[in-house]
Amino acid sequence: EQLHELIATKRPSISFEFFPPKTDEAEAILWQSIRRLEPLNPTFVSVTYGAGGSSRDRTTRVTQRIAQDTTLTPMAHLTCVGASTAELRAVVADYAAAGVKNVLVVRGDPAGGPRAEWVQHPGGPRYALELVKLVRELGNFSVGVAAFPDIHPASADLEADARVLAMKAEAGAQFAITQMFFRPETYFELVERAAALGCTMPIIPGIMPVTNVRQVERIAELTGVALPAEVVQRLHAVADEPAAVRQVGVEIATELSQELLDGGAPGLHFITMNRSTATLEVADALGLTARV
Ligand code: FAD
Repeated sequence: EQLHELIATKRPSISFEFFPPKTDEAEAILWQSIRRLEPLNPTFVSVTYGAGGSSRDRTTRVTQRIAQDTTLTPMAHLTCVGASTAELRAVVADYAAAGVKNVLVVRGDPAGGPRAEWVQHPGGPRYALELVKLVRELGNFSVGVAAFPDIHPASADLEADARVLAMKAEAGAQFAITQMFFRPETYFELVERAAALGCTMPIIPGIMPVTNVRQVERIAELTGVALPAEVVQRLHAVADEPAAVRQVGVEIATELSQELLDGGAPGLHFITMNRSTATLEVADALGLTARV
């Protein structure tokens, strides 16, 4: 069965997102997290893709090792930052050779961050849309794309975001994963807007259990993710105690996840920051660890 078929049938699907570590020490932490999360029997685990060749090599290496040394199904992220179509073909060929059959296709952000002006490589794609078509043409991959409950910072309005998502599905994307968000209604509204345009592929909510207040505030600032006043207040009330922050972060993520699943979300994609404890606690609170 291909990944998109599993996502469409497994309820709820759970999955974990990691990033390629830069040092041996960080890599050891990542593998410890992967081993601790593996018993939850996720539908897949994904590894993000940074800018530059060394990050790309680390993504390929970590994804390949997940394929070879664990029971997990890996998904590699791919972006078109600074890349020609010829280079992108080579990366996709590397993934295929490494046994990676699932790709999350995103445009990527410019070096200056999500709000900086996007510069297309002269011989490369302008939008994720074109990369979706390319990856689907190059092999029998399951292809996922990004979605934005709180609006993509460069989009005119939420309707435009939904139209782009529907175009990606028409171009061959089989599922979507959202940017993290904290208000469940924004997710359900996105799903409705997409469905009204005929886009019914599974849209998996991205969940980040907050473990560090400054970190989430920085990400929110960069990406345009809305931090509701209530969330900020609950986190700030304990900001000086790391253990209490994690506990509150777990509570917030658990409440959000429960509302999403109750409302019909197909699964949960946890942004782990390469750690396992908070994600395990959320999964446990949701009763998702008992099923294995
Ligand atoms: P696109 O779909 O190309 O959209 C970019 C902007 O252009 C949007 O405003 C969109 O509305 C607009 N647009 C798109 N197509 C058209 C069109 N045909 N006509 C007019 N306007 C259009 N970044 C990384 O660098 N590495 C990662 O591994 C990574 N993983 C991610 C995982 C998830 C789940 C998410 C949600 C994001 C991830 N990102 C990652 C961030 C992502 O690269 C950025 O959010 C990026 O700015 C947008 O990517 P996209 O694929 O949605 O781009």
